[in-house]
Amino acid sequence: MSEADDFVDAIVVGAGVVGLAVARALALSGRAVVVLEREGAIGTGTSSRNSEVIHAGLYYPPGSLKARFCVEGRRALYAYCAARGVPHRRCGKLLVAASEDEIAAVATIAERGRVNGAEDLVMISGAEARRMEPELTAVAALWSPQTGIIDSHAYMLALQGDAENAGAVVAFNTPFVAAEPAAQGFLVRTGGVEPMRLACRELVNAAGLSASDVADCIAGLSSNAVPRTHFCKGSYFILAGRAPFSRLIYPAPSAHGLGVHLTLDLGGQARFGPDTEWVDAVRYEVDGGRRAAFVAAIRRYWPGLDEEALSPGYSGIRPKIVGEGEPAADFRIDGPQTHGMAGLVNLLGIESPGLTASLAIAEEVLARLEGGRPPA
Ligand SMILES: Cc1cc2nc3c(=O)[nH]c(=O)nc-3n(C[C@H](O)[C@H](O)[C@H](O)COP(=O)(O)OP(=O)(O)OC[C@H]3O[C@@H](n4cnc5c(N)ncnc54)[C@H](O)[C@@H]3O)c2cc1C
Repeated sequence: MSEADDFVDAIVVGAGVVGLAVARALALSGRAVVVLEREGAIGTGTSSRNSEVIHAGLYYPPGSLKARFCVEGRRALYAYCAARGVPHRRCGKLLVAASEDEIAAVATIAERGRVNGAEDLVMISGAEARRMEPELTAVAALWSPQTGIIDSHAYMLALQGDAENAGAVVAFNTPFVAAEPAAQGFLVRTGGVEPMRLACRELVNAAGLSASDVADCIAGLSSNAVPRTHFCKGSYFILAGRAPFSRLIYPAPSAHGLGVHLTLDLGGQARFGPDTEWVDAVRYEVDGGRRAAFVAAIRRYWPGLDEEALSPGYSGIRPKIVGEGEPAADFRIDGPQTHGMAGLVNLLGIESPGLTASLAIAEEVLARLEGGRPPA
């Protein structure tokens, strides 16, 4: 690559919720920031294809980045939503044991959640759960009052607004193509209608499903430092008519997802999902043939479901850094302390609870760039 067209302090690749939160944090710290986004709008990837749940922090192994950032991120996110008028509701969630043999698993999650810092968790009986949600079938449940829902697009718009007010620029239709080490940091080449060469001191890869591909195009980064991203699709079905519950309802989780759960959007629309399906390519169509499996999973906790009321909705794809059959992985926030390249942070495997954790991830990226924290 030859000389740069321009110099900025920091370049963030990707304008999903994480890239925008990082851009905001870097811009508020006084850096001149450019966000490169290959699409024509913010949040067209996983950030607009999720359950929009603010997670309490129940599931993740204590001490993991997921556990820490979920709890820290949730507290920061509720405060941010209140301060910036982002629509959200702390509606709470019931994690349901549908049969006696699931009670121990739910109790284990309750204990793990307490260790992680999820507040106000209570194990309740099936009768108590039914008093809260009369249509529910449960032999016991975990009540998590700190779980909530958020308008994720309004949240991303608020992050973008904060970043831009602090001087950041979001360049749409501008894909990252490659980067190489340069005198002051990196020389970054973009594609798009007007390809650019930008020099920067710091480079943050928040490209979601493409984060491994982006990392592979950074010259000087050892290929051993870049795990492959595997795709695990989650489809949703939408329920016609009135929602049967006023709180979120989750079954006991499966290995790579949280089980087909019921979430609500802020308009009261109920949706079920996501299921898990390992795929080779990013394709978002929802296969109507998955309905029978949804009906079976939902009827375990809601026998009153009329299957005709379910229609295929949307899907999202989890960026996994482990493949099918392997144990779940933690977030990877690879800073200079991990790979040895000053000024570079790669965010890999940022699946759930990445929306909840976004503000905490952004603070961590800042800390890693400033050398203030040891590797996890
Ligand atoms: C089915 C599902 C349900 C989920 N539910 C929840 C939930 O309820 N609560 C929760 O907390 N989390 C949830 N998550 C996780 C959460 O949605 C993600 O962690 C989060 O959205 C990740 O944001 P991101 O910015 O890292 O990625 P993305 O939103 O995917 O953004 C990446 C961006 O990078 C851009 N990009 C890619 N390559 C390039 C390139 N070469 N050049 C420029 N731009 C590029 C893309 O266009 C995209 O805009 C869920 C995830 C899934 C899949």
